[in-house]
Amino acid sequence: SKVLVTGANGFIAAWVVRTLLEKGYAVRGTVRSEEKGEPLKKIFADYKDKFEIVVVEDITKEGAFDEAVKGVDAIEHTASPFHFKADDPQELIGPAVNGTRSILKSALNKSSIRRIVVTSSTAAIIATLPEPKVFSELDWNEQAIEEVKKQGKNASQAAKYRASKTLAEKAAWEFYEASNTNRSWDLVVLNPPYVFGPVIHDVSSPSALGTSAGDWYNSVVRPDMGGKTLEVITTVGGGWVDVRDIALAHVLALQKNEAGGERLLISKGEFVYQDFIDTANALSPSPIPSHTDLPKGKPGAGKDFVPKIVYDPSKASKILGPELVYHTIEETTRDILADFEKRG
Ligand code: NDP
Repeated sequence: SKVLVTGANGFIAAWVVRTLLEKGYAVRGTVRSEEKGEPLKKIFADYKDKFEIVVVEDITKEGAFDEAVKGVDAIEHTASPFHFKADDPQELIGPAVNGTRSILKSALNKSSIRRIVVTSSTAAIIATLPEPKVFSELDWNEQAIEEVKKQGKNASQAAKYRASKTLAEKAAWEFYEASNTNRSWDLVVLNPPYVFGPVIHDVSSPSALGTSAGDWYNSVVRPDMGGKTLEVITTVGGGWVDVRDIALAHVLALQKNEAGGERLLISKGEFVYQDFIDTANALSPSPIPSHTDLPKGKPGAGKDFVPKIVYDPSKASKILGPELVYHTIEETTRDILADFEKRG
């Protein structure tokens, strides 16, 4: 069967495409220009007969995906801006919300489509609270929406991005509920935290890495910890998951009947970058023999970190099944460093 993957040239999407192809699916990927499709053709050259690219220049336009959805059996909608450089929050919210609505609308009355998976985020779940809390699929990030509503351009970058993901996911569920008579598909939403791992999409230099992979590189590989303070490295944390695991989750989400209509939080666990720094320094043999100047930070300090935000990924494990085995921090760290080493 054939799966449409939007934003196919992205960090996560390239792994989604690869995992689908490896599992025997045919894939149609969308990109914003011919030029952005070229590297993908090379990366997936072994799958020439099963991989095709279509250009969707502006995902926010109504009908933008009308052609792209034709004849596919399922959709993985990953395209959405992920950066912390927006002035106007609408730079993020516009494409996030309208891109989501646009693809769901194009998928109405297309009888071949059985399932649509939307890549949301734990950004759509969390809140900053005084006390630690375990978050699950039951939680919604109203806080970020409120902050953006009240402060507009002056809202924090985190709030702007989180609001874009929360509003986009809400738009997906609202559209889904409102359209239950003219669709042949059901909806699955995946909510990963920070995604780390080796990159297979077109990245010419570390500065071209996406937001999450770039932040990992800056914190764990650059000797000056990307300018981050020891305090940040040892106390500002989050949840994380390996990019190959979230990619596999996108495939399993197509395969498991029980996933239909569900929001699934996918997370390996909580971290501060000191944990990755310690892991990187402890790897033996080192995957990066040529540069041994990894930062040290404050070795062991990650153990004292008490995360305010803790994730409960048990529902996803139950529904996606035993195939979803999360990479360990050692595996992920080793493979990212080996990838950097390979690129020089
Ligand atoms: P990347 O930045 O690597 O990829 C984003 C993709 O979305 C690219 O294909 C990009 O196209 C496309 N895109 C961005 N803005 C627009 C726009 N305005 N119009 C059309 N396409 C656009 O990000 P990731 O792979 O990290 O993220 C993919 C998805 O996963 C996003 O929905 C993100 O919110 C979500 N996510 C990511 C996490 C992470 O830690 N990486 C964590 C949780 C969720 P182009 O190259 O042309 O800009």
